[in-house]
Amino acid sequence: MQETREHPTIYDVAVIGAGPAGTQAAISAAHQMRHVLVIDAGPVSQRKGRAYWSKSVEIEDAPVFTGITGPQLIKALRAWLKAHPVREITIAGERRLTGIEYRGGMVLELVRRDKLFELVTSVEKLKEGEPLTIERFLARTVVVASGFEDKWPDIEVDESAKRLYEKYRAVFRYAGNAKGWHVCIRCDGHLHVDQHIAILGVGDYVYGAALGAQDFTDKITILTNGRPHGMSPPVLRQIQERGIEIIEAKIKRHIGEGADLLGLEFEDGRVVYFDGFLVDEGLEPNTQFLKGWDVQTDEEGLLVVNEDGQVLDSQGEPVPGLFAAGDIVAGARKLIATAFALGQNAGLSASDSLRKWHWPEDDESQE
Ligand SMILES: Cc1cc2nc3c(=O)[nH]c(=O)nc-3n(C[C@H](O)[C@H](O)[C@H](O)COP(=O)(O)OP(=O)(O)OC[C@H]3O[C@@H](n4cnc5c(N)ncnc54)[C@H](O)[C@@H]3O)c2cc1C
Repeated sequence: MQETREHPTIYDVAVIGAGPAGTQAAISAAHQMRHVLVIDAGPVSQRKGRAYWSKSVEIEDAPVFTGITGPQLIKALRAWLKAHPVREITIAGERRLTGIEYRGGMVLELVRRDKLFELVTSVEKLKEGEPLTIERFLARTVVVASGFEDKWPDIEVDESAKRLYEKYRAVFRYAGNAKGWHVCIRCDGHLHVDQHIAILGVGDYVYGAALGAQDFTDKITILTNGRPHGMSPPVLRQIQERGIEIIEAKIKRHIGEGADLLGLEFEDGRVVYFDGFLVDEGLEPNTQFLKGWDVQTDEEGLLVVNEDGQVLDSQGEPVPGLFAAGDIVAGARKLIATAFALGQNAGLSASDSLRKWHWPEDDESQE
């Protein structure tokens, strides 16, 4: 690990992630005159945020952005951040900075330094055999808006590949396209109204996706990709009642044309064509930098927060200065409008926590 430099600035709010949640958190905090640092793994890695994965499909049900794809949304979010550059202001004779500094970087570790947070960040693209370039940033508060990674189906994976993108090259060819792998039935179900959808996953968990799919179609096949279906008797009973087919054979390869996925060949020789493909194998939260922190998570590893978006510890107490927003929040809908709303909540709460005056502690009027 190669150390470069410690950043001399102490930011008011550091935001980890620049998807809808992180961008909104930064804008809301800057609007309250805070000096904000946004660190975004997108420019230095393939971890570009979930919205980015809507590669050619237009995003639906998000504020005002008619006809915009994922990469276009990300571009618009960057432009929004850049429209709030850092400037100097004077309040009550005190000169300070406000606005947003945007940096590409992967936060590797979050360290408590007295009342401050240190963000140990890899700031260059990783190159094989070359050491990491590390920069350390200090902030008074942190908003975690780093989202999660979807788990992709194990079909035609290159086990020898070192990087996730190379490993899942065949899957990623089709991921996020209209006729390809979807990961969000609410987001992309409208593309397959009354069509035959394949849903890949196991256990009662996958039935959640099937329940969501019924808003669009009743032609559903569940694929377990070589694993036992693992569903409980009541769920299995419903699956049978609803005429949902289960195929437990292992999938050998995709059948596609360009970026369109048309069907799948199974190891037993069967070839089945579908109109739509959804994978629901769970998620991996982007919170590796919180290793060692006492924070409360749900069964999927998502962060539990209070009404102010402040992260709770295992005792249910808010962790001073630590907030979270967007997909990384337990119990929240994994959608863009929700991410914006949670981002605003966390950005404002982080900003409010830095005020010099608070309500008198014994004053009931604060209620
Ligand atoms: C294919 C697809 C289609 C979708 N379609 C829709 C739709 O039509 N409508 C809708 O409402 N929702 C849709 N969604 C869901 C939507 O994209 C997410 O709910 C939304 O992007 C969540 O926003 P977020 O800011 O919480 O996280 P993300 O958008 O995932 O952003 C996370 C950010 O954190 C960064 N990051 C991660 N780890 C680190 C780290 N260690 N250090 C620094 N930065 C880090 C990433 O680079 C990224 O900038 C779709 C999702 C997918 C995958």
